[in-house]
Amino acid sequence: MNERALIRLDQIERRYLVGGEEVLALAGLDLEIQRGEYVAIMGSSGSGKSTLMNVLGCLDSPTAGEYHLDGHAVHRLDDDGLARIRNEKIGFVFQSFNLLPRQDALANVALPLLYRNLPRAERERAARAALEKVQLGHRIGHKPSELSGGQNQRVAIARALVADPAILLADEPTGNLDSKTSQDIMGLFDQLHQQGRTLILVTHEEDIAAHAHRRIRLSDGKVVEDSRR
Ligand code: ADP
Ligand code: MG
Repeated sequence: MNERALIRLDQIERRYLVGGEEVLALAGLDLEIQRGEYVAIMGSSGSGKSTLMNVLGCLDSPTAGEYHLDGHAVHRLDDDGLARIRNEKIGFVFQSFNLLPRQDALANVALPLLYRNLPRAERERAARAALEKVQLGHRIGHKPSELSGGQNQRVAIARALVADPAILLADEPTGNLDSKTSQDIMGLFDQLHQQGRTLILVTHEEDIAAHAHRRIRLSDGKVVEDSRR
């Protein structure tokens, strides 16, 4: 095994059973991603992008194959083990933000730290620092309904960053944003990459993918193109 690879997928399969019929969302996918890479995952709707992100983010388990993350054999972990490694290593940003509507920005961002044994004051201090990093230090008491789409995505990014994960995964993070706001969010991702994080994002927009240094295209649950610039 290549010890240098941060992420290594070998022959990953993810099958779904839908009304007695089998769907092969990931069909024996091989992929290696090194520390510090900035990767765009592309492909038409239904090609397996979200399924791949969920497997990478330890939100879902492959039905076959091996996943090594930073040397850990993720495919052997149970749900508790997956939750632990996810909390330690992964920040996840979704297209629809997935914020708790009744909680303010500070509480939403502090949430991942609940699973660590940190006193409340320390959780809030870290959440405030993460919100400052995304230029929302002045909005910590606002709830999602009191923020714009771009601001909510910034809150979601702060939540993904608060536990200082090595890997940031984003599934169509600009899919619900206008093009100006999308470019602002991409500027933020660029900064996070420059600071040393490994970034993997799904997009079907060329100008978003152009921010990444490596482009992977999926078709029918397999990698059909993999290029670097
Ligand atoms: P993409 O994100 O590229 O649009 P997905 O990973 O969401 O693609 O889906 C890949 C394939 O797996 C599709 O055929 C989709 O219908 C199927 N699929 C995804 N999630 C599920 C699920 N929870 N149950 C059944 N089929 C699913
Ligand atoms: Mg998708």
